[in-house]
Amino acid sequence: MHYPHLFAPLELGHVTLPNRILMGSMHTGLEDRAADYDKLAAYFAERARGGVGLMVTGGIAPSVAGWLKPLGGRLSMPWHATRHRKLTRAVHAEGGRICMQILHAGRYGYHPLSVAPSRLKSPITPFTPRALSSRGVERTIGDFVRCAQLAREAGYDGVEVMGSEGYLINQFLAERTNRRNDAWGGDATRRMRFAVEIVRRTREAVGRDFIIIYRLSMLELVEGGQSWEEIVLLAKAVEEAGASIINTGIGWHEARVPTIVTSVPRAGFAWVTQRLKGEVSLPLVATNRINMPEVAERVLAGGEADMVSMARPLLADPSWATKARAGRSAAINTCIACNQACLDHVFQNRRASCLVNPRACHESEWLIAPAARSKRIAVVGAGPADLACATTLAERGHTVTLFEQGAHIGGQFNYAKRIPGKEEFHETLRYYRHRLAELRVDVRLDTRADTAVLLSFDEVVVASGVVPRPVQFQGSDDPRVLGYLDVLAHDRPVGARVAIIGAGGIGFDVAEFLAAQPPSPTLDPTRWAQEWGVDRSFTARGGLVRPAPEASTRQIWLLQRSEGRPGARLNKTTGWVHRAALKAKQVQMLGGVRYQRFDDEGLHVLLDGQAQVLPVDNVVVCAGQEPNAALAQQLLEAGLKPHVIGGADVAAELDAKRAIAQGTRLATEL
Ligand code: FAD
Ligand code: NAP
Ligand code: SF4
Repeated sequence: MHYPHLFAPLELGHVTLPNRILMGSMHTGLEDRAADYDKLAAYFAERARGGVGLMVTGGIAPSVAGWLKPLGGRLSMPWHATRHRKLTRAVHAEGGRICMQILHAGRYGYHPLSVAPSRLKSPITPFTPRALSSRGVERTIGDFVRCAQLAREAGYDGVEVMGSEGYLINQFLAERTNRRNDAWGGDATRRMRFAVEIVRRTREAVGRDFIIIYRLSMLELVEGGQSWEEIVLLAKAVEEAGASIINTGIGWHEARVPTIVTSVPRAGFAWVTQRLKGEVSLPLVATNRINMPEVAERVLAGGEADMVSMARPLLADPSWATKARAGRSAAINTCIACNQACLDHVFQNRRASCLVNPRACHESEWLIAPAARSKRIAVVGAGPADLACATTLAERGHTVTLFEQGAHIGGQFNYAKRIPGKEEFHETLRYYRHRLAELRVDVRLDTRADTAVLLSFDEVVVASGVVPRPVQFQGSDDPRVLGYLDVLAHDRPVGARVAIIGAGGIGFDVAEFLAAQPPSPTLDPTRWAQEWGVDRSFTARGGLVRPAPEASTRQIWLLQRSEGRPGARLNKTTGWVHRAALKAKQVQMLGGVRYQRFDDEGLHVLLDGQAQVLPVDNVVVCAGQEPNAALAQQLLEAGLKPHVIGGADVAAELDAKRAIAQGTRLATEL
């Protein structure tokens, strides 16, 4: 059998799970409105069909005070259970199992009714919570228990009690947020009483034949977080109180250490779960940045955990488990941990989806049906827009020819994958290579498509991408002024001091590329932990030590014309990581810069109206892009009506999310 540890059944007493795959809780934005539960049911049903052992819903509040945001998903009244029955029925019809996560946001609640153990505002919300009275604490425990009972009535196989990530239960556990001096605060035993009572009373209320997962905060990554001894004490008490499984929680939301972004090493926190092995006899779940079967199998075979939790990887590929079981890991559409369509959307109050799988969370609305008539279709370019389009067209039964002028498929992803911390981009290209072969797409590399060759097709899709935007200033034609393709595609040498013009996504990536000492710390968990101050020996509370970033290999200035902080427009959940990483490398990030000239002294700029010379050996221009639209124009002139997508259509603010979604969408319509 492929991946024998991953596909070993797990005995829980009243139920046997078919494998060790837990689909971790992920807010999709569909939990909050009753009207969206049919869509949510279709989303979970597709993943149940895909063979996941056990799934957990996004967080559902047990009370109004526990809301994450006003009118967020809640299960506190019998009539709320009706909508949840849609999910449980859909999952059970596919032979799956599903638990509901009970999440009380505490002081992370983005509303004025929030409560907490103590009246302390969190650094990431504008609302100061009300401190719960002793009666309020009792009432809140009752809310959890009632919520679990209702979940059982709604047909769930169990609940997950969210005790980590800095939410209410976690706020009781840590000295940092619990300043109480009553039965619920003070020493470690009293601080953990809230968590333990929730589990104990829930078990009493729901009986033995119901799964209770406790998500235990094992590494908080904040000052004043729990010590390792306290965590072990809590794990033992939670086991004693009746939990069935302990899941791992890593980091509070206010922590300044990245825990799930693409630059975090794969399974980079499994060591924390392993540390708890032997302390309790419950199954332990490892989590964070486990995205491929080889990684999951390694964690399980190495005895680091008994199950693996994956949330985003199953958003990216609902059939992950079926493919892994069949030994077809090359066919998995891998989550690249970019957060661009999932967490970033949730933070913008938009429905989550997935950059590499735009159907995610739109399963019932976005169908990929067989084509009414098979056509001969040419797709020009093999960037992400083209690859998504070509594979979806072929999936629908069209005969597809893909033209790529370069020697490889992937377009700009071939440059993205070279950035330290973006190694996952290789996986998307591997997935598409496999998919193109599987679907027998006729791939013509090193072939520049032109009007003559395209005339014979029924339809032509042009996804010829972009060209870098040139920038003009005195000396900009000097050979020492490079473009980002000179650096990332042609390996042109770059001196020890360099100025980067343009601080968008590519400017930041080029800065990281030029500052880094290979190999990338993402491939070395020990070096990565040192860079971010994660204490793998766990001697200090919260598991934090002073970060020891490696020095930059170059002196770098990252510049933009706009006033203000460079990087302010980077993605919400990942931008801070890029800014912090470059700050640690002492990259100077400057806004409000006017470029005047480049000569032997360096780059002459105006900064706050003052003339300055940045004494650099090279300038790298990363000033955005313009559509590569010449071919589309020629086709129009020849009387063809090409479908133009991706950067060739609109280059401004084009990212792979838009490119893949546009390519897939077009392919469903032809
Ligand atoms: P491209 O990827 O530009 O592909 C176009 C392809 O068409 C090329 O391969 C080209 O050779 C080919 N072509 C052009 N003309 C012809 C012709 N006549 N005949 C045959 N072939 C032709 N986006 C994100 O969302 N997240 C990121 O983290 C991210 N990081 C990036 C990092 C870097 C360093 C770079 C450079 C880009 C990054 N991007 C990122 C942007 C993302 O890669 C692009 O938005 C995406 O590749 C655009 O896809 P596309 O299919 O429109 O075009
Ligand atoms: P971008 O994000 O539009 O940034 C372009 C930068 O160049 C800006 O800093 C802009 O700021 C500057 N600029 C624009 N015109 C200029 C001019 N004429 N002269 C000098 N400077 C100029 O584009 P990009 O960095 O090329 O990225 C391309 C796309 O790839 C983006 O849509 C981005 O989302 C995507 N991408 C995403 C990631 C990611 O991690 N999510 C990473 C890389 C790329 P000023 O005008 O203020 O100078
Ligand atoms: Fe993974 Fe990115 Fe998709 Fe989110 S959007 S599931 S991080 S690939």
